[in-house]
Amino acid sequence: MYYDDNTVTYLDGQWPLAKASMGGLYQQSFHYGNAVFEGIRAYATDQGPKILRAQEHYERLLYSAQTMHLEVGLSVAELIDLSYELLARNGLQDAYIRPLVYPTERLGLQAESRSHVFLCAWDWSQYFAAGELRMKVSPYCRPDPNSCHVDAKVSGHYVNSILAMKEAQVAGYDDALLLDQKGFVAEASGANFFLQQDGVLYTPPEGNILPGITRSVVMELAAANGIRVVQKHFTPDAIRGAEGAFLTGTAVEVQAIGTVNDEPFSRPWAETHGALLQRQFKQLVREEKINFKKTKAA
Ligand code: PMP
Repeated sequence: MYYDDNTVTYLDGQWPLAKASMGGLYQQSFHYGNAVFEGIRAYATDQGPKILRAQEHYERLLYSAQTMHLEVGLSVAELIDLSYELLARNGLQDAYIRPLVYPTERLGLQAESRSHVFLCAWDWSQYFAAGELRMKVSPYCRPDPNSCHVDAKVSGHYVNSILAMKEAQVAGYDDALLLDQKGFVAEASGANFFLQQDGVLYTPPEGNILPGITRSVVMELAAANGIRVVQKHFTPDAIRGAEGAFLTGTAVEVQAIGTVNDEPFSRPWAETHGALLQRQFKQLVREEKINFKKTKAA
């Protein structure tokens, strides 16, 4: 699924085949989850593949690396160029790109600043099976912002996501909705949450979430449609009786939610703001002009 015999990756200035691309077992990334990564999508357009918000994704990668004291040694512009080259070398147009920065060998707990940079890409057209998600409020909370940098994409944070998603799936649901330490809704295992009530969209503010890049694209689209978006804390009680809800994220894009804890919403998905924004998001990602004015390095 992720690679075949011909798939090419990028590793520290070389272009090894995926099957020969090696990482060692003596790094903090394997033992302690000390690595940072991104999830980025490229879309086929009339002008070839375009990476959605590449600039923002690579700025976030460098920010995440900085929180973990990792030196990347490549600029945003260089990382964007490498990503386009990765797509070209693999003949990919619609693709998911996964950059990973991990420290060189060290197994003590001293932060290691020297790093490896790995890039790979694959076709990950659909993250969830089609349809509206059945979500479960998770007994697992998001990591406490006083314990780690929750606004950074650090590999170790995703142990929390894996536990929460597994708990939800064992109980027969598609994904988990995690609360923060105070009991307010935070986000899904790998996506941001929006709730529609009285025609207004509500989404949790920054602080306990990964502030998603798709979340900001969707907020821009909502503004262009005159839809009010309010960033505020709310508890799961606010979800009961609401008009609709959806997730946003690079992997999930704009994803309809059918139920939370088996409670349906008061409007059919097709009649919610989410459905409109989902359609417009699909168009926007393939439109050269809106697109991606900030993405390709000048
Ligand atoms: N929250 C979490 C925990 C995530 O892993 C992701 C995916 N990166 C998101 C939100 C959505 O972020 P983005 O839209 O930037 O992909």
